Amino acid sequence: MKNMEASLVGKIIDGKAFAESFRERIASEVSNIKSEKGLKPSLAVILVGNDPASHIYVRNKGLAAKEAGIIAVDHRLDEETSQEDLLQLIDCLNDDPLVHGILVQLPLPDQINPAAVIDHIDPAKDVDGFHVVNTGRLVTGEISDSKAALIPCTPLGCMMLLEDRLGDLSGLEAVVLGRSNIVGKPMLQLLTMANCTVTIAHSRTKSLKEICCRADILVSAVGQPELVKADWIKAGATVIDVGINRVSIPTSDNPEKMGLVGDVDFNGAIDVVGAITPVPGGVGPMTIACLLANTVTAACRQSKITPPKWRSN
Ligand code: NAD
Repeated sequence: MKNMEASLVGKIIDGKAFAESFRERIASEVSNIKSEKGLKPSLAVILVGNDPASHIYVRNKGLAAKEAGIIAVDHRLDEETSQEDLLQLIDCLNDDPLVHGILVQLPLPDQINPAAVIDHIDPAKDVDGFHVVNTGRLVTGEISDSKAALIPCTPLGCMMLLEDRLGDLSGLEAVVLGRSNIVGKPMLQLLTMANCTVTIAHSRTKSLKEICCRADILVSAVGQPELVKADWIKAGATVIDVGINRVSIPTSDNPEKMGLVGDVDFNGAIDVVGAITPVPGGVGPMTIACLLANTVTAACRQSKITPPKWRSN
């Protein structure tokens, strides 16, 4: 991106900068809530096992929470922990009025069924927004009152970036690539709620290129490096690249060099798009920021306080 012309730079949706200012706002809301209402939002993060990437994610989430003034407590359990023991810990956290958010870092070791674990979390404390109650509330459109869904963090972050860039999304044609429960499906719901006409595509979709070419908004959450080429993108479209793919990017100095790319061929797409999120520095930083926002929302709702309004639309 080093020698990119200024006109192209203007097309980049800087998720890192957006997330930084969002986190400052969250910190300021937390400080107000503490001083005015005496409420100290708190997040319990459970990590089972030794997955190195999960250890880094959990550490980053904890640091970000503390920076925002949120109390973050880690619960680190052995690789051999039984499902029963994990569910018991969740029972304790569900019952603890000083814990407002519970996050279980995925993936879990093989002996534990992730669906059973997620469904054991009190939906009011499910800050990842993965519990079936939150999923159901999102599908039925309950997102803005006391019984509202907690919205999964990555799709929520994508919506915030889209609304910041485009304002009203009504009537736009949106295409979502990927149908996972954590990104693709909630993205479909959120875009539908924002009055887009949405198509969801996946690994069995035929004519993927033709479908993508219709999109005013293209969200890709597939996990295939640079699958989406420039000629799959409508001129002026807004592209949100959720994919994080580790690939080899050899240089003359370092033939072994590894790096991250998204699902979209960024260097080709930049000439065509109206706007695009880079990888890294696009959606990723928004995911952690939205986790903090969800924790504050959950804390406020549990304390019968109106939560801050995070989204502009
Ligand atoms: P997943 O593996 O659960 O789902 C992938 C989806 O892509 C599936 O629905 C599958 O049908 C679809 N798919 C696979 N190959 C395809 C193809 N060739 N064409 C069209 N669709 C295809 O993955 P996920 O958990 O939803 O994550 C998707 C990507 O997003 C991954 O790269 C992941 O690392 C990344 N991710 C990023 C963040 C973030 O914070 N930025 C958060 C979550 C996931």
